[in-house]
Amino acid sequence: MRQPETSYDVVVVGGGHAGCEAAAAAARLGARTALYSFDLDGLAEMSCNPSIGGIAKGHLVRELDALGGIIGEVADATGIQFRLLNASRGPSVQAPRCQSDKAKYCKEIRRVLSRLETLELHEAEVARVLVDGRAAAGVELADGTRVRAGAVVLTAGTFLDGIIHIGYDTFRAGRIGEKASVRLAENLREIGFPTERLKTGTPPRLDGRTIDFSRFQEQRGDDHPTFFSFRTTEVRLPQVSCYLGYTNEAVHGIIRANIDKSALYGGRIHGIGPRYCPSVEDKVVKFADRERHQLFLEPEGLDTEEIYLNGLSSSLPVDVQRQMLDAIPGLETARMLRPGYAIEYDFVQPTELVPTMETKRVSGLYHAGQINGTTGYEEAAAQGFVAGVNAARKVLGEGEVTFPREDSYIGTMVDDLVTKGVDEPYRMFTSRSEFRLLLRIDNADRRLRPTGYALGLVPEAEYRKFREKYGEIDRLRHFLKEKRWRTGDARCPDLDEKVAVEAVKGYTLEEILRRPGMELGLFEPLLRKYGMAPSDPEIGRIAEIEIRYEGYIEQQARDAEKMRRTGKQRIPTDFDYSGIDGLSREMKEKLGRVRPVDLAMAGRIPGMTPAAVSILRIQLEMRKAAGKSADGDARTGARTGPPRAAGGSGDSDGSD
Ligand code: FAD
Repeated sequence: MRQPETSYDVVVVGGGHAGCEAAAAAARLGARTALYSFDLDGLAEMSCNPSIGGIAKGHLVRELDALGGIIGEVADATGIQFRLLNASRGPSVQAPRCQSDKAKYCKEIRRVLSRLETLELHEAEVARVLVDGRAAAGVELADGTRVRAGAVVLTAGTFLDGIIHIGYDTFRAGRIGEKASVRLAENLREIGFPTERLKTGTPPRLDGRTIDFSRFQEQRGDDHPTFFSFRTTEVRLPQVSCYLGYTNEAVHGIIRANIDKSALYGGRIHGIGPRYCPSVEDKVVKFADRERHQLFLEPEGLDTEEIYLNGLSSSLPVDVQRQMLDAIPGLETARMLRPGYAIEYDFVQPTELVPTMETKRVSGLYHAGQINGTTGYEEAAAQGFVAGVNAARKVLGEGEVTFPREDSYIGTMVDDLVTKGVDEPYRMFTSRSEFRLLLRIDNADRRLRPTGYALGLVPEAEYRKFREKYGEIDRLRHFLKEKRWRTGDARCPDLDEKVAVEAVKGYTLEEILRRPGMELGLFEPLLRKYGMAPSDPEIGRIAEIEIRYEGYIEQQARDAEKMRRTGKQRIPTDFDYSGIDGLSREMKEKLGRVRPVDLAMAGRIPGMTPAAVSILRIQLEMRKAAGKSADGDARTGARTGPPRAAGGSGDSDGSD
């Protein structure tokens, strides 16, 4: 039934990972916020794998937690297996991952959102964005109800004109069993957004009671879990195992024999899929020499028998998927609860956005999540946070907030998206950052807590704890730097076993710690004697990392500083590139399309030459000299307001 017209500060469309994070951020900043979604019982539904985190994705979650986002705590509260990935490798590529109880995850998100007084949750389809002139004015629901808003955040995920493929079966859906968002997709095109197609896929789900797990290798979680949230101290739910197995030649033979029935290979799917998350038919065709591919059996929750068959994503017909299962030892009698499928959907090029996630075309309209051509819950949540914060601040008349790429993976992703656009689903990797040693999971709070606090999303008490923690780390580091090893000081038997005491006499503890095989625990009696024993093992670990990698960290910190300096050369939004002599037409077109916010971003546009950047620099300097400073510009001017992520706080790691 059509409702009377209402109004909010911010309306969020879509209750997926991006929408929930956007709504939470906007509401917590004091904006009167409404979230509209097809199904409120399916808030932050995990459309695919029942897990959060992993390499680089875990980094994003940690960063969000440091800033005051919600995903980290919800993941910790509903985790049924925790593992630190790459535990034996360097600190920059270590990341937490958890297996999640999918149903409990949705409930927990709903519980967290329901506690926010300035947030209302509504179950309804949004059909249109209302645009007044060139500004978003609200949304229209499918029943014709108009909802006014100062800002709108669109997070429609895979639902925009979604089409599911299972073999020859093709039907409209946003996710299996859920309707597609067709009217909204049409409306975006009407507004003038160019839309393109991408695709993704998911594997079959199995009845765990019918699987012979003894044919698979058990994988248990860590005994001492690494959590996502800096606030979590203990595991809440019973922990479970996952299982590792493999495909085999028989499975590959079945795929090859039926390849033309695959929606992907039969030419019925045109969208581009995630290269790093290929379907099993893709793996068999593209890596024909491989004898087997990994499969993981992952429980979907504690109260369900459903098992997610990670590694067997497929768009082959159901009977062929059944044949594949029959050929895998341990799955011969497994009951398939749901088949795998592929989905194609619309997305809007993220080059349509500025780094606040606001669209260039419509002021006050923000896009976040899969709608921007990304893939993954964590990527979506991170964009949702940036969009939600900025939407709220715009309506409340506060300055915009951007996240420089040198300070976070969140900033790296946003910068990649708005500068380069996407030609395949974008997922986060640590290799996307040139500052990997600075952007570690252990120091996400050092990098971003001050920003979260300045925004008002990190409570006073938590911020005090954060300062105490780094105060202790800094004191410990000072002690290790100054204190020289003397034989009569305190006996450290573990150290004696590792190194001849005379050989390290006179060296500072820091110098000794840098030697291979050394660790802080070896000095424990000495640290206790001087009252410097860490109050928490994490404090010792961070100090160790900072000492061991100091040279590399400092090098990257210098590079980051250089980027920060170039980033200070802002480019006004109204800058006219067409009139610059010496710039080729191609460069002018690129600059005009992307509209970089600063010189550093201009240099990162694909194909931009150093010569073009140099010409642009001279033009900016001339303009400044002529008194047309970029500071007067509406978009860039606001950036000088608080808080410009960690770069503005001066708290970047490595400088200490
Ligand atoms: P979604 O989680 O899709 O949420 C969109 C929300 O918007 C939904 O709540 C929906 O109800 C709501 N909505 C849409 N239109 C409207 C409207 N008009 N009105 C009101 N509400 C609306 N990611 C990976 O990282 N790896 C994978 O292997 C992978 N496989 C996938 C397989 C499938 C089949 C699917 C569907 C997704 C897969 N993903 C995968 C992607 C992952 O699910 C998304 O990246 C993530 O969920 C995106 O979050 P989001 O918030 O942008 O959108």
